[in-house]
Amino acid sequence: MGTSLKSKFVFVLVGCTLFGLLPGSTVRGVAQADLNDTGPKTGVRQLIPETPQYGGKARVELDPRRTSSLRFAVIGDYGDNSQEESDVADLVKSWVPDLVLTTGDNNYNEGSAETIDENIGRYYSDFIFPYTGIYGDGAQVNRFFPSLGNHDWRTLDVNNLPYPYLEYFELPGNERYYDFTWGTVHFFILDSDTNEPDGHKDDSVQAGWLQTQLANSIYPWKIVVMHHAPYSSGNHGNTAWMQWPFAAWGADFVLAGHDHTHERISPEGDIPYFVNGLGGRSIYDFQEQPVSGSQIRYNGDYGAMRVDVFSRKIRFQFINRQGEVIDDFSLVKQFEIEYLPLVRKTSP
Ligand SMILES: [Zn+2]
Repeated sequence: MGTSLKSKFVFVLVGCTLFGLLPGSTVRGVAQADLNDTGPKTGVRQLIPETPQYGGKARVELDPRRTSSLRFAVIGDYGDNSQEESDVADLVKSWVPDLVLTTGDNNYNEGSAETIDENIGRYYSDFIFPYTGIYGDGAQVNRFFPSLGNHDWRTLDVNNLPYPYLEYFELPGNERYYDFTWGTVHFFILDSDTNEPDGHKDDSVQAGWLQTQLANSIYPWKIVVMHHAPYSSGNHGNTAWMQWPFAAWGADFVLAGHDHTHERISPEGDIPYFVNGLGGRSIYDFQEQPVSGSQIRYNGDYGAMRVDVFSRKIRFQFINRQGEVIDDFSLVKQFEIEYLPLVRKTSP
């Protein structure tokens, strides 16, 4: 197996006997143990074939710190090298997340190479691989998945690309928009900026890529992440050019930032949209009239989202830097657990 992200994603089974495993096998698939809130107070992290001959049993690593099979944090509009960013980073690290996603504006104010490490690596280097900055050793495998914000697009090279960001991170695909999988989740990170060479509208090359990738995905959960919020009651308001038909294309929910608030919006007949921009830069006001479908709005303090993925449920919490849970929302989905063919390593 190579070292691509797809070969490293976490596959979770409990109490199962695996048949047909060959020595050195790597197990791939989208099945997951039936964990939920009422389950044992141990989280299953990763499957490792213990006796990989025919009929061997699976060994699972247990993480006593939590019950979910995948936990990720979401931070937005954070890269300011501020006390507030530091507080939110401490909060995020206290959750021991598998992954950190960002909804953009990672490197204020100009997206420059001079500030990128103090704005990002100083607080989040533990999740970044490869990490070449001055704040520690970084991660063993990349667990930091940013999206481009308008501030990240302010320093460009001769090809009009945001080179400090593209050089700092090593991300899948073209690195500006990309997808990856982890556990039972397929993540799609978009570039919502109008500078994006592959376009930012629903008939763009980028949108065509997303629609195809969503249609071809076998993963039960599909999450779309971007910077400019399609719907928002904050200062910036809706970003009409990003109101793509995400639900019709198969996404389960959308995470965005740009407005420095927390908001959850469920437009009628649509999937949930989150605005999450309280990661450390500043706090914005809300407009007098909330957008249609707005369920909760918060701008009382800085904070981040903690998302726990169970077998058939995803739980979202927005938690401020005081540790107060501001929003607590779950999506439940019924789907058949599918065991994919095992990937066998045939060469030594
Ligand atoms: Zn922004």
